[in-house]
Amino acid sequence: MTDRPLTRDHAAARVLEEHRDGVLTIDVSAIRANYRLLRGLVAGMCGAVVKADGYGLDAALVAGALFDDGCRCFFTAHLAEALALRPHLPAEAEIVVMHGPSPGMAHLFRQHGVVPVLNSRDQIAAWKAAAPGFPAWLQFDSGMTRFGLDAGEIDSLDLQGLSVRAVMSHLACADDPAHPANAAQLACFRRIRARFPGVPASLSASSGIFLGPEFHFDIVRPGAALYGVNPQPGRPNPLSPVIRLQGRVLQLREVPAGVAIGYGHTVRTTRATRLATVAVGYADGFLRSTGASGGAWAGDVWMKLLGRVSMDSIVLDATDAALSPGMLVDLIDHRHDADGAGAASGTIGYEILTSLGHRFARKLI
Ligand SMILES: *Cc1c(COP(=O)(O)O)cnc(C)c1O
Repeated sequence: MTDRPLTRDHAAARVLEEHRDGVLTIDVSAIRANYRLLRGLVAGMCGAVVKADGYGLDAALVAGALFDDGCRCFFTAHLAEALALRPHLPAEAEIVVMHGPSPGMAHLFRQHGVVPVLNSRDQIAAWKAAAPGFPAWLQFDSGMTRFGLDAGEIDSLDLQGLSVRAVMSHLACADDPAHPANAAQLACFRRIRARFPGVPASLSASSGIFLGPEFHFDIVRPGAALYGVNPQPGRPNPLSPVIRLQGRVLQLREVPAGVAIGYGHTVRTTRATRLATVAVGYADGFLRSTGASGGAWAGDVWMKLLGRVSMDSIVLDATDAALSPGMLVDLIDHRHDADGAGAASGTIGYEILTSLGHRFARKLI
């Protein structure tokens, strides 16, 4: 979407691109390093989850890079995501659609060479009718209560004529290693996979990989960790940071103490303050729920967010920063990463990534 030229005049287009109000830098080599780190932790296969356009970073870019590192199994949520990705990957790459076929759509999977996860009896029946003998994954619910067949349903399923490519389930509490649900889901999934001898099994996403080898089975499905999100909240992050998000300073102003700032006048200056208005707002994914612990770096000076986030701009306390209009400040980087930005806005790094807007210049390094 950001590839659409802003003008037909190429020189002008380049200047405009260089002066966009925000710059999102994606470190593709860091994504690859994260993939290799995760793969090194497991004995079996390591897939890659690229749903939601690769957690906002560009699914085709991510999948293409990871294919070069040997990844052969890619997961999307929607069929449309898989169909958009299919032309970017060689046929030997398996693309698995976790939502499975919605009614009337099974034939499209077969036609385009993408593989569904079958989550319900209806989906199994539709697949058997539309693509008899074609491989599909089967998902069982081992305790998350979201997708999948009930474990208790196994005996009554008619799997005749179904080529089960893999059985999977998903952990609800893997980011909390002490949570008793992990062991309960593991035990449940072991019973399920025992009913499918010789069929590959998949339980863990990013956090599950860090619960230990008994959670790995044959294929792991990391998403967030590839993109640098910490799979073990509260512990040091073993993954490399992947994104840097910068916003441009529009305006600097000196105001005295007692001046109210932004919509709703939710904050007043407590001293003479230099304000920087930066051209990133909630339309870009700088969430409106960001509180007083939000902000940005100007070089090595932390500038606090003052007042409410607008659609296209924020106001920062730049009293101690050396800034001039047109400079870029760091909104997300290794010091204040997606997890940190999530914490400052009452959410998680995942939502920060998938909220990133489309107005940034995108740079790949
Ligand atoms: C999103 C998702 C994943 C990837 O999860 P991360 O926590 O991002 O690693 C894996 N499996 C399923 C079923 C998912 O929905």
